[in-house]
Amino acid sequence: MREVKLYPTTTGQGWLEMSAYKDHQFKHHSEIKNKYDYIVVGAGYGGQAAARHLAELHPDADIAVFEAIKIGNNDSGKNAGFIIDVPHDFGDQGASSFEENQRYFRLNTFIINWMEETIKNNGIEDVDWDHCGKYLCCAEEKSFKLMQHEMDELKRMNCSYEVVEGEDLYRRTGTRYYKKALYTSGTVLINPADVLRGMFTVMPENVDVFEECPVMRIDEGSPTSIVLRSGQRVQSKFVLVTGGPFIQEFGIVKKVFCPVLSYGAFTRQFTDEEMRHLEGVKPWGCTSGHPAGTTVRFTRDNRIFVRNGFSFATHLTTSHQRIMRSIPKLRKAYESRYPELKHVNFEYVYGGMINMTMNFRPLMMQKFPTVFASACGEGAGVAKTSLLGYYLAEWVSGISSDRLEFLKEISTPKRLPPEPFLTMGAKCRLMYEEFNAKSEI
Ligand SMILES: Cc1cc2nc3c(=O)[nH]c(=O)nc-3n(C[C@H](O)[C@H](O)[C@H](O)COP(=O)(O)OP(=O)(O)OC[C@H]3O[C@@H](n4cnc5c(N)ncnc54)[C@H](O)[C@@H]3O)c2cc1C
Repeated sequence: MREVKLYPTTTGQGWLEMSAYKDHQFKHHSEIKNKYDYIVVGAGYGGQAAARHLAELHPDADIAVFEAIKIGNNDSGKNAGFIIDVPHDFGDQGASSFEENQRYFRLNTFIINWMEETIKNNGIEDVDWDHCGKYLCCAEEKSFKLMQHEMDELKRMNCSYEVVEGEDLYRRTGTRYYKKALYTSGTVLINPADVLRGMFTVMPENVDVFEECPVMRIDEGSPTSIVLRSGQRVQSKFVLVTGGPFIQEFGIVKKVFCPVLSYGAFTRQFTDEEMRHLEGVKPWGCTSGHPAGTTVRFTRDNRIFVRNGFSFATHLTTSHQRIMRSIPKLRKAYESRYPELKHVNFEYVYGGMINMTMNFRPLMMQKFPTVFASACGEGAGVAKTSLLGYYLAEWVSGISSDRLEFLKEISTPKRLPPEPFLTMGAKCRLMYEEFNAKSEI
């Protein structure tokens, strides 16, 4: 297979800096063995689920995970930290029917419970994991339409929800910016870098984890092997690639991912005096009434987090300049929601890639008898990519199930149009969405 040209890079700071696990030392590169039974490429949420479930299924197997950068600095550690059980925007899931949404809901709930058990069973309850639900907040009346659509779907799915407005909404969020919100209780809010790194820290003993150890090539054959960027060759019976949009770099698929950059920022921690403006407000988080709107969180350590801005990630990364250029929009979102705290600076700002496909469908495939790959294709990727990794481990192990068949069936990412139409089309669409989001941003 082809040699990787573009590698992941570190793009700003954020959740990892606040993680108690940030200094954990994984295995030294000198301990890399010449041979494994299973190799997992990529240590995002997909790689975490694949490696852990492989270890559950094969406790005597030798398993290795290779991650190009520091675990938690990757996109899995750069998201907004919502592990969503219900589809937060039904179109976003790429599902074509109500039945499909219902299946996602059950699968999402299953994987959230599996992650929660992993945390409990391994004694890492100190990770930032809060089963506190989420709000879908609307600042504009025209967004009520989306909210109504979601309520109708939730009703059909027999999911409970609550509509919150007026003083009650203010009491819960500390802002009068929103007109109405839809609350569902199943979402977990996390520090995504903390939870990811924590979970890798407690991998079963038969899993060797190597970070800052990029894979340069996968050579399929007998035996199959990977070549690290250092030049070292490592053999494996099976290779599972969970590299997000970088899967294309290995030549596994062509032209299906169109990753979108988005930006996040945190205020510093509020002082006791500043906290008087948020008296009684518990940690909370909202997605927006428009897909291009601002995501907001009030964190457990008393900061406001905001995420917004979309741009097309033509070279699978962003730059310091682009991150700096994202700040005015992030500040505007923060200051308009919390005008009495607008003197508070941002402490961290970052950019990350949301791995999209044209039709929001995921990828799950067997490229060769010994090489498998999976990645999600939508915004709510933590639950989805964990599911794909989990069932990829079952597929490689020859375990069949209805759930695996379902995930294979929906793995139909649409092929992208050729350049320059792709970049032009993506840029226009993102500008259009942002323009229409208006004060939801
Ligand atoms: C700003 C932002 C906000 C988001 N908010 C949410 C949210 O609130 N909720 C939600 O569910 N989802 C959210 N997402 C999406 C979510 O983060 C992703 O869908 C999910 O993390 C994808 O996980 P993954 O394991 O498939 O891919 P990744 O996290 O991209 O993991 C792939 C890994 O492979 C590694 N890799 C790539 N190439 C190589 C190589 N050559 N050698 C070795 N390793 C390699 C990468 O470094 C990376 O660590 C958000 C994303 C962003 C950017």
